[in-house]
Amino acid sequence: MEFDTIAAISTPMGEGAIAIVRLSGDQAFEIADRLFRGVGGKRLKDVASHTIHYGHIMDPKTGQIAEEVMVSAMKGPKTFTKEDVIEINCHGGLVSVNRVLQLLLNNGARLAEPGEFTKRAFLNGRIDLSQAEAVMDLIRAKTDRAMNMALGQMEGRLSKLIQKLRQEILEILAHVEVNIDYPEYDDVEEMTHQMLMEKASYVKQEIEKLLQTSQQGKILREGLSTVIVGRPNVGKSSLLNSLVHENKAIVTDIPGTTRDVIEEYVNVRGVPLRLVDTAGIRETEDIVERIGVEKSRQVLKEADLILLVLNYSDELTSEDENIFKAVEGMDVIVIVNKTDLDQKIDMNRVRELSKHHKLVTTSLLEDQGVDDLEEAIASLFFAGSIEAGDMTYVSNTRHIALLNQAQNAIDEAMQGVEMGTPIDIVQIDLTRTWELLGEIIGDSVHESLIDQLFSQFCLGK
Ligand code: GDP
Ligand code: ZN
Repeated sequence: MEFDTIAAISTPMGEGAIAIVRLSGDQAFEIADRLFRGVGGKRLKDVASHTIHYGHIMDPKTGQIAEEVMVSAMKGPKTFTKEDVIEINCHGGLVSVNRVLQLLLNNGARLAEPGEFTKRAFLNGRIDLSQAEAVMDLIRAKTDRAMNMALGQMEGRLSKLIQKLRQEILEILAHVEVNIDYPEYDDVEEMTHQMLMEKASYVKQEIEKLLQTSQQGKILREGLSTVIVGRPNVGKSSLLNSLVHENKAIVTDIPGTTRDVIEEYVNVRGVPLRLVDTAGIRETEDIVERIGVEKSRQVLKEADLILLVLNYSDELTSEDENIFKAVEGMDVIVIVNKTDLDQKIDMNRVRELSKHHKLVTTSLLEDQGVDDLEEAIASLFFAGSIEAGDMTYVSNTRHIALLNQAQNAIDEAMQGVEMGTPIDIVQIDLTRTWELLGEIIGDSVHESLIDQLFSQFCLGK
């Protein structure tokens, strides 16, 4: 394939003093040589591949030196895009890197679209689609655990498993083919049925295992949607603040004054929480507050985790009891706050209402009990299993949907065999399973889907 030469700022993860401009394409070396002034007049096109060179970037129009740089010269195909790649490390940080990028664009390069480097890596066959998607997850990862999961996928762990399953299906299909070609041999049919059921149930099991990781995988990738509920003044905003460790939500003494739904991300022992503070879920005549309340109910429905806050220094009210009812059947952690004040709450009743939910007591004012709460959150969702570093996770909604469909398709194939359905019908379900799995790694996906997926990327990746 042939592409023009693209350029973008691609500063590595974690902010640093060094910023990088990346250039990829057939003209990468030529364009860079128009600007680069190396020691002793050396040209990048003459240097050994995968070497780094000190020098300056000069504006060829004015002859003025713009920046002091280190340039990595990498000839394809052993590069991320499989194309010729130049990386210019600018010591001057962001301003400097912008100036260099501008010079590259003035001298023959085109500004890369978001995700275009990764898209090229995919189109040039360097990585498959699930790996490309992992690059995107890596960029967005909010915790180390999420990053490790994305790295595993980027290294091709999921791809390899999917390829193995597809291979199994191909073998079944080959036998089915024989069966269709030689229908007169009864023992061929017998053998085919047996091996079909064996291999198909293996594939089905593996898909099931993958799908079982999807809840944790999705949490790692997207964050655990967490809603803080409780009646006014119990300490919801204080809890949010204490988890975020900075004061973004408004804390106030007036009951019912947290009016907007505010979102925050926090990292609780490797679990990314998407925190939502709500205006409580009581009925009220106040219009401003009711908007908040309606939003709250909707947010509640979509939550993965509920933090239900009660006031230790106040008696339980019917409102508290209603909140318990509203969150029935969900993952709830009950927090009894304000333990620094005199007890008015009936803890026996609280335990009754909490049933099997975890219960922690806190004094947010005195910074007590927050550790217990964080422990409760982490153990609720990652009871050990996530620590296993060699696990393959699915986290991507697209992958999960395809795996579900593949599971149904192989199920139908197996049912067909058991019910004595003609083998060419079974063949259709098997082929479909094979195709659905293929879509995960980007085999036979539609071009518009590819464009859509890559358009979600950050610039410079
Ligand atoms: P919200 O309406 O549920 O969001 O409650 P806030 O977080 O706004 O807190 C209401 C008031 O209770 C504020 O004045 C807080 O400082 C106070 N507060 C929060 N937690 C505690 C606590 O543990 N002990 C005491 N004594 N006061 C608290
Ligand atoms: Zn509040």
